[in-house]
Amino acid sequence: MRGYLAESGVESELYAKVPERANLVARLPGSGGGPSLLLLSHTDTVVADPSEWQVDPWSGELRDGEVWGRGALDMKGEVAASAVAVASLAREGFRPTGDLIFVAAADEEVGDGYGLPWLCSEHPDAVRADFALNEGGGERVELAGRALYLCSTAEKMSSPFRLRVHGRAGHASMPGIADNALIKAAPLIERLAAYRPERRLEVETDLLVQTLGGRGFGADEALAFARELDPYAAELLEPLLSLTLSPTMITASERRNVIPSVCEVVVDCRLLPGQSQEEVEPLLRETLGDGDHDLEWIEARGGTRSPLQTPLWDAVSGFVAEVDPEGAVVPICVAGFTDSHWLRESFGTVAYGFFPMQAMDPQLAARLIHSADERIRVDDLALGVDCFRHCARAVCG
Ligand SMILES: [Zn+2]
Repeated sequence: MRGYLAESGVESELYAKVPERANLVARLPGSGGGPSLLLLSHTDTVVADPSEWQVDPWSGELRDGEVWGRGALDMKGEVAASAVAVASLAREGFRPTGDLIFVAAADEEVGDGYGLPWLCSEHPDAVRADFALNEGGGERVELAGRALYLCSTAEKMSSPFRLRVHGRAGHASMPGIADNALIKAAPLIERLAAYRPERRLEVETDLLVQTLGGRGFGADEALAFARELDPYAAELLEPLLSLTLSPTMITASERRNVIPSVCEVVVDCRLLPGQSQEEVEPLLRETLGDGDHDLEWIEARGGTRSPLQTPLWDAVSGFVAEVDPEGAVVPICVAGFTDSHWLRESFGTVAYGFFPMQAMDPQLAARLIHSADERIRVDDLALGVDCFRHCARAVCG
């Protein structure tokens, strides 16, 4: 990629904590004082099992107007589109007033400290930017008879916790003499599953349902409306109305014949942007009730948002108006997690997830990410290039 960029006269640097996990940062320097725009992407992917695929997952095979392979959607496609946008602008002699930066970062999927967080702390001058475009949005969805392009402006906080249930060990042949922590964990897991947290509309979801319904809604009413409108709308909205709890891992005894004295349950918990562990913990403790167990937070990551009335928002909306005059851009909060929060936290960057997708059905795309037969339409790659070129001219041109 460095060679490809150099052919168009774009200089790039490799920043690497270890040589085999390098990050590439390329820059078209601004002529002075204008706002900077960073095109952010990650080059790593999740694993792929070739036996589940119709093609070699590492082939990048071109078939019927689609590029097939692991990372096509998440997110080597966007890496490629960013590189092409920057290189083509450079060839045309584009001279931005603020820096146009392209970052192809390592290590987003696992997050072992080789990628963007490491760049932000060790090489902040390389990645500091006023505005950024990243993964996490851009799909065109048809709802309520309208074409909407989802632009991710916020994300939930990854806030997993460990529930540790205490009992007393004993020989499994004589359960009466012990106090089985695994059995005691079962009703606690059921209580977590039955918990219905209070719903609330955040600024992003409020705007989304207003766009769909043409008026304001309460949070519960909004979900009922979305269900009536389209199951997909409800699927999109539901995790964004409250915190979510998903128990995913459990450990107890390591021997079949030993009754466990401790059972640990790891719960994947996602908080709304702006919600804190301090606010949520009493609610969780109340849900679990009294008993010999404790709750320990594992981490608190993300949960950031960027404002909506910005030059980058105008740039994204302007692009959509050009390519799809009937379409409208709506903000959305990401239920999962992207690298955008590192930029927001480190530099106050206005970071959005927007890589437009018109040709592929967004529900199909969602099922292909991290799964078999991942692929992207070449038309959508070209659309992404056009979008980045448009935003670069609009924001730092
Ligand atoms: Zn990704």
